[in-house]
Amino acid sequence: MTEPTQVTSETPSQSLDFIRKIITQDIASNKHAGRVETRFPPEPNGYLHIGHAKSINLNFGVAQEYQGVCHLRFDDTNPEKEEQEYIDAIEKDVRWLGFDWGQHLYHASDYYDQFHQYAIELINKGLAYVCHLSPEDTRGYRGTLTKPGQNSPYRDRSPEENLAWFEKMRCGEVKEGECVLRAKIDMSHPNINMRDPALYRIKHAVHPRTGDKWCIYPLYDFAHCISDAIENITHSLCTLEFEDHRPLYVWVLDNITIACRPRQIEFARLELSYTVLSKRKLLQLVNENIINGWDDPRMPTISGLRRRGYTPEAIRNFCNHIGVNKTNSVIEIGTLEFYLREDLNLRAQRVMAVLHPLKVVIENYPEEQVEEFDAENNPEDTSAGTRKIPFTRTVYIEQTDFQEDPPTGYFRLAPGREVRLKHAYYITCRQVIKDKTTGEVIELHCSYDPESRGGGTPDKRRVKGTLQWVSIAHAVTAEVRLYDHLFATADPNAVPEGKDFKTNLNPDSLVTLTNCKLEPSLKNLESGARFQFMRHGYFCVDPDSTPDYPVFNRTTTLRDTWAKIQKKQK
Ligand code: ATP
Ligand code: MG
Repeated sequence: MTEPTQVTSETPSQSLDFIRKIITQDIASNKHAGRVETRFPPEPNGYLHIGHAKSINLNFGVAQEYQGVCHLRFDDTNPEKEEQEYIDAIEKDVRWLGFDWGQHLYHASDYYDQFHQYAIELINKGLAYVCHLSPEDTRGYRGTLTKPGQNSPYRDRSPEENLAWFEKMRCGEVKEGECVLRAKIDMSHPNINMRDPALYRIKHAVHPRTGDKWCIYPLYDFAHCISDAIENITHSLCTLEFEDHRPLYVWVLDNITIACRPRQIEFARLELSYTVLSKRKLLQLVNENIINGWDDPRMPTISGLRRRGYTPEAIRNFCNHIGVNKTNSVIEIGTLEFYLREDLNLRAQRVMAVLHPLKVVIENYPEEQVEEFDAENNPEDTSAGTRKIPFTRTVYIEQTDFQEDPPTGYFRLAPGREVRLKHAYYITCRQVIKDKTTGEVIELHCSYDPESRGGGTPDKRRVKGTLQWVSIAHAVTAEVRLYDHLFATADPNAVPEGKDFKTNLNPDSLVTLTNCKLEPSLKNLESGARFQFMRHGYFCVDPDSTPDYPVFNRTTTLRDTWAKIQKKQK
């Protein structure tokens, strides 16, 4: 017998969420011999999303905290929708989030023989029967929340007859949909899930793991509790929609010969504003090419968030912050972005990038001269060091950093105005060159003050504006993809009559810029590398990059500009 873990003394129970309180009590009372064993049970019918991250962080987190183990179990009981691609992606994503199932990798399909035996046990005990009602009649007989159901005419078949029919189902002698195996519980039960629920259905389908061995497949409510019990799970943590299924979970385990009694505990699903987290809807976005696959940086999938530049730490910190509780609510997407910025601020190197370039010629600077300035990589982290930035006579600045007729409060460049070029010199705008036909500003001629080298002057003259810049001779041309929320409305699931959720898509969720100019250190980067483009936000290198043409994704802006826009709209 293992010793109960001493968590109670270290973690005061008032600071624990309701799940951790239950676990702490179970350990104290030596239930399950003090053992904690949880599982994360994805169905491999899609990619994992941020909602799954909440469940992963909870299941693996709890196991870690109580020196227990957490299993990764593929809930693969629906052969038609499941694919190897999803299995691989799920494993990769759980690992990336920072969790490890060790040798505890399981598949519900490993237990098909056992499920089948337990079904036979229920039939023999007179607790399950083969029902030939059509799906429509089954619905009719089920009753409603206010009206009890009626017994199926097949309910009183003898165990022998049921065994014979169940065997025919198993052998492939019965057509799909012709009959099902049902539990015999109570057709007038106040909980509809207890009105003789189906346990097995016929599906003449090939399963990725068991091939054509089976043509009957167990339903979730039958397979899940038995899988938990076979694996000796102590706490089976699932989302609130399974609360009404708990009596059935208990009923199945109470009526078959199995020792383990896991406790099912439900918690609220994660919902995020401006986001859909239904796998069915996400699959639709992929299949209809509305986004560029499961890992499109606008997707709330783990692979999408990773490509967008999210860190596992940011996602885990967010999950820890929102915690777990029993009431469904919608979390502001800004909360997730807050944890992202907080984490990136610590780790992202500051660099200079110009997204909409405007050429500046510094007339009094020597033609051939190249000077190198030291630039701090991260003011939040002195160990990040410095790098050299070359400065020359012609540089790019941001188009929005110049205005011919600046409004009051505009401290950037304007005719006659002086600004600081970050890490370099003060420059003053002397002349504005325009395109003769369009009138567009195409070039600025400036002068620099050699005394202001590195950012100050002997007369301590103050300039308010500091601009990022890139030497034209050294600039790296890059593509930058500016992402915004995929949906334009806070609740994309709310749609007008006759329309679908895609009506709520944000038409400006991706803006691609193809002529951005970056400082020369941003060459030959590894995909995924993260940076703060000064004054623009956080960016990361996309896998579409080539050595000659880097592609960057905007992970997030520096501040929550979206919240500001919304306030204005109200
Ligand atoms: P499906 O409709 O395909 O069953 P699902 O979202 O429930 O979709 P699963 O693969 O069954 O997906 O989920 C695996 C685990 O993740 C389950 O325990 C489920 O409760 C949990 N989970 C899924 N979505 C969320 C969410 N939004 N918040 C928290 N947990 C979630
Ligand atoms: Mg599910």
